[in-house]
Amino acid sequence: MKTKVITQENIHEAAKCLADGGTVVFPTETVYGLGADAFNDDAVSKIFEAKGRPGDNPLIVHISHVSQLSRLAKNVSPRAKLLIEKFWPGPLTLILPKCDSVSSRVTAGLETVAVRFPSNPIAQNLISLSGTLVAAPSANLSGSPSPTVCADVVDDLDGRVDYIIDGTGCEIGLESTVVDVSTGKTVVLRPGGVTLEMIKELIPDAELDKGLIDADSVPKCPGLKYTHYSPKADVIVVQGEKKNVRAYIGSMLSQNSDCGVLTYGGGTYDGAKLVLDAGADMTSYAHNLFSHLRTFDKHGVCTVYAEFNPENGMGTAVRNRLYKAAGHKIVEV
Ligand code: AMP
Ligand code: MG
Repeated sequence: MKTKVITQENIHEAAKCLADGGTVVFPTETVYGLGADAFNDDAVSKIFEAKGRPGDNPLIVHISHVSQLSRLAKNVSPRAKLLIEKFWPGPLTLILPKCDSVSSRVTAGLETVAVRFPSNPIAQNLISLSGTLVAAPSANLSGSPSPTVCADVVDDLDGRVDYIIDGTGCEIGLESTVVDVSTGKTVVLRPGGVTLEMIKELIPDAELDKGLIDADSVPKCPGLKYTHYSPKADVIVVQGEKKNVRAYIGSMLSQNSDCGVLTYGGGTYDGAKLVLDAGADMTSYAHNLFSHLRTFDKHGVCTVYAEFNPENGMGTAVRNRLYKAAGHKIVEV
């Protein structure tokens, strides 16, 4: 298949392609998404094929107006409405009881559907122009880090999708927060840009899914049970007080200089193959994490030491992705 890389000037072409059952990659404020018509099973199947995504991992359906929710969700609880009013459009996905018309290909057989209203104007425009609603997971090959710049999408999906829209955005850099409001509880299944603390301001008894906290429980978000976000390099998280972290990584580099370091807050290292700075706070860390992991791979770095110190807020989302990228190889110093 020949993939066309376009800019938003030609968005009409891409919207028509979606309406005709094709696949289109588009930027959002979280990461790039790989979209297809959510009401066309053949089109939805192309998403799973292009990514090599397991069929039991459901997709998020993207809307461009809150009124479209009635095509997807059987009912919207008062708690869900509170979250919608405050956080949509934005990086928040809600799990709601699904309408019968939503295909089990999209929901992987679940009785619930995941819905998001992105704030990125290109994403909104594409959905509106397509005349349908758009099922879209992250636009990476299954298992690799989600793409936050167009070049990373091209690396993974050139020849596997019809269109890629090169656009700005992906300010957040991690996938959306997934919140289950389909039961009596409010449970964060995947942490992201809308933090638990922000949700608790509206719904004080909101909680994190046990599977996110306790290594022995299985996460309720089907996608989170898979190895995810993994670069080719081995990632080792080194966490603790900054001076201990830096001393530990320094001593590792003196034994093997073929390593990379993901620093946080401007650490300098002698003898590393590549040092990349994740920024000064967790918001920058989130924004840079996936693209930096891909850069280490491009430079053929075999082992990456990642400086980290757990924090709440955005730190919860960073920790979730970083620990997974590291396959839970964590050194406490
Ligand atoms: P991605 O679009 O690649 O960010 O993946 C979407 C995430 O949302 C995956 O982790 C899915 O498992 C999760 N998800 C989608 N639909 C549901 C649902 N109905 N219930 C729980 N999690 C869901
Ligand atoms: Mg994904």
